[in-house]
Amino acid sequence: MGSPWPRHCARGYSGRIRLIGEESYAPYDRPPLSKEILAGTWRPARAFLRDREQLDKLDTDFVLGRRAVRLDAGQQNVELDDGSAVSYSALVVATGLISRRLPFGHDLTGVHSLRTMDDALALHAGLQTARRVAVIGAGVLGCEIAATARTLGLQVTLIDAAPGVMVGQLGDELSAIMAKLHESHGVDVRIGVGVAAMAGVDGHVDGVDLIDGTRVAADLVVVATGSVPATEWLAGSGLSLGDGVECDSHCRAAPGIHAVGDVARWHHEVLGESIRLENRSNATQQANAVAADILGTGAAYTPIPYFWTDQYDVKLQIHGIIPPGAQLRTIDGELGTRRFTALAVLDGVPTAAIGWNHPRGVLAARRHLGAPQRPSPTRT
Ligand SMILES: Cc1cc2nc3c(=O)[nH]c(=O)nc-3n(C[C@H](O)[C@H](O)[C@H](O)COP(=O)(O)OP(=O)(O)OC[C@H]3O[C@@H](n4cnc5c(N)ncnc54)[C@H](O)[C@@H]3O)c2cc1C
Repeated sequence: MGSPWPRHCARGYSGRIRLIGEESYAPYDRPPLSKEILAGTWRPARAFLRDREQLDKLDTDFVLGRRAVRLDAGQQNVELDDGSAVSYSALVVATGLISRRLPFGHDLTGVHSLRTMDDALALHAGLQTARRVAVIGAGVLGCEIAATARTLGLQVTLIDAAPGVMVGQLGDELSAIMAKLHESHGVDVRIGVGVAAMAGVDGHVDGVDLIDGTRVAADLVVVATGSVPATEWLAGSGLSLGDGVECDSHCRAAPGIHAVGDVARWHHEVLGESIRLENRSNATQQANAVAADILGTGAAYTPIPYFWTDQYDVKLQIHGIIPPGAQLRTIDGELGTRRFTALAVLDGVPTAAIGWNHPRGVLAARRHLGAPQRPSPTRT
């Protein structure tokens, strides 16, 4: 039998909950934005995390379309952009990230970034009439966008100053396999070369100038050069803000204040260092850990990092991390083929389990991992 309690009461809390969000959409999932929503195979509502009836059952006040502009931690209240103030006994900061911008090009039409549902719908619309797409930034997000645009039949150039695609997350060997995947689908992969400027004609983007003097012709450009924690509204609050909201091992930023998800940098007790993760499974797991901590049943949060990405017909899943210099050891199948499982090994120690179209294999391979390993810090 299901719990008779609203979900937020599953741990016994019966007080009032307010969820304040700048976006006007009902809470939604971001991973489909660069995949199904961008491709147009899902309507926006399919990405919503709960339907209206389920949201009602949560017995939560949703204050949507409202931005938090200031935190007064002493008075325990948050000021909103309409001048109102919301008081709290427990505050959770979950403001995520904002896309990093380039110092040029954003005044041209046809230049996009992707973080929100509105960004995805605008980019989807742009892809309907574009012919040549340049994606600046070959992190996970840039690679997913390139794959989706290519699947829609567009000419795609993927550009990054780094020496490989997703090289920070994948390491050299797997990065090379990923680059080959894109090339085999017809993407022009330009790695190891930075962007100097964007060119426009009549206010619309026309191309991207690279520092090697070449120009990539493009009538649509996506800037996917990473994101930064959305903490500007916390300036002057007394919270410690570095690369994210800095927290202890229980994700506590200050008395009565926790941070969670992409914006939270917390002390991982097993790793013995402060980390921040930008992935979907962490956002959920950490939220559970924080809810427990608010209710007095928390423990130090010490996950094994996990992320996945879907590109073309490949689902890549990685538990743990692939540090620089790690070697891949195949467990099932063969590297570079349609389906394989491997371990990343550094100094004889497995640091990550990798599944390439192999969800079952990667779960089995995960057992080779011991304690959580140092994660790749960011997604992009
Ligand atoms: C396009 C895309 C594709 C992705 N695909 C994958 C994937 O395949 N696999 C994976 O593991 N992860 C993926 N991710 C990452 C994953 O979606 C994030 O890790 C996750 O959304 C983080 O959740 P969060 O709640 O911390 O932040 P967010 O989901 O970013 O939510 C933060 C919310 O806070 C709001 N906000 C910010 N500032 C304020 C303010 N001052 N006042 C009020 N509201 C505010 C924002 O508008 C936003 O709605 C993807 C992310 C993107 C953008």
